Amino acid sequence: MTQKVFPISSARAPAPPHDGRPLVDMLGRGLRDLRISVTDRCNFRCVYCMPREVFDRDFKFVTHDEVLNFEEIARLARLFAGLGVKKIRLTGGEPLVRRDLHRLVALLAAIPGLDLTLTTNGSLLPRQATALAQAGLKRVTVSLDSLDDATFRAVNDADFPVARVIEGIEAAAAAGMAPIKINMVVKRGVNDAHVLAMAERWRGTGQIVRFIEYMDVGSTNGWRMDEVVPSAEIVKAIGARYPLEAADANYTGEVAERWRYRDGAGEIGVISSVTQAFCSTCNRLRLSAEGSLFTCLFAQQGHPLKHLLRRGAADEVIVNEIAAVWRARDDRYSEIRTADTAKQHKIEMSYIGG
Ligand code: SAM
Ligand code: SF4
Ligand code: SF4
Repeated sequence: MTQKVFPISSARAPAPPHDGRPLVDMLGRGLRDLRISVTDRCNFRCVYCMPREVFDRDFKFVTHDEVLNFEEIARLARLFAGLGVKKIRLTGGEPLVRRDLHRLVALLAAIPGLDLTLTTNGSLLPRQATALAQAGLKRVTVSLDSLDDATFRAVNDADFPVARVIEGIEAAAAAGMAPIKINMVVKRGVNDAHVLAMAERWRGTGQIVRFIEYMDVGSTNGWRMDEVVPSAEIVKAIGARYPLEAADANYTGEVAERWRYRDGAGEIGVISSVTQAFCSTCNRLRLSAEGSLFTCLFAQQGHPLKHLLRRGAADEVIVNEIAAVWRARDDRYSEIRTADTAKQHKIEMSYIGG
């Protein structure tokens, strides 16, 4: 494919002044969580995210001068913190392919009151975990879709072995990051038979496996409903071997539903974005690598901020713009998903981050 798969953003007239009241969107939801994609590039080609036949050598990724630099990202992060954002997750693409990411982590870790974390495929963690931890990163989420090497190599489509990801997880733990969350996207007929082994591997370690329903993000992964494994099925399968009980959410709007092992060996999480939509409490906003805001993982269009940053706009002008975008938000895609909406042209997950 030679075409760039991302939306044409619309520049808007200057937003009205933000009046300082807590930000609430059209459906009464506050803004709490910001996901920052630092790159749309990745060294994997996971079949459910960046199918190789689309993201091939002709694919036009965002160019280096279009990507926000670390100082621009940190400036926005400070403004978001002032607007009530409590948590920032760095993501991508693969965030660790962005050179010197630890420099950005240091800038963000210096912002008071922010919970900072990062989602990674783990491949570059063995090399970078210490520098990231020293820069102030306290937590990390690592994606790992199977412990079976052949399955994992086929899913990441980069022939990358399980053992190296586990090395990454161990490097993060040795660097003091805790707890480490391990994301497994479950796809029927691909890795659903490996769910119990995954739970068993991390039971009693202090790390938390989170099983994610396969989603119709983007428009390139050929998603089908019959490939989704409902979280209820996963909880039942694990619970049959190791009894589980529901645990309370850590905070309103937490994405993962928590389940605790009754014998005290820790917990797992399930993310049921398809079978049990959680749009009514969704407090997440996404910032793309080139500086556009997306109010939903399934958005079809972004709201650009980069032109403001690069034309020397004052902080209050940018704050007004962010506030206007959030106040106008009425997304609830997962509540209205159908086979037809799944076919719509949506932004790619590798572009806005998970
Ligand atoms: N490259 C990093 C990684 O894989 O962890 C960060 C970006 S990735 C887009 C973020 C998360 O989204 C990963 O845990 C990945 O497994 C998940 N993901 C990607 N495509 C998905 C899909 N179609 N359905 C559900 N989760 C998906
Ligand atoms: Fe890359 Fe993460 Fe997407 Fe896999 S899920 S292709 S590692 S961005
Ligand atoms: Fe939030 Fe959109 Fe996901 Fe609903 S579908 S939970 S609004 S990101």
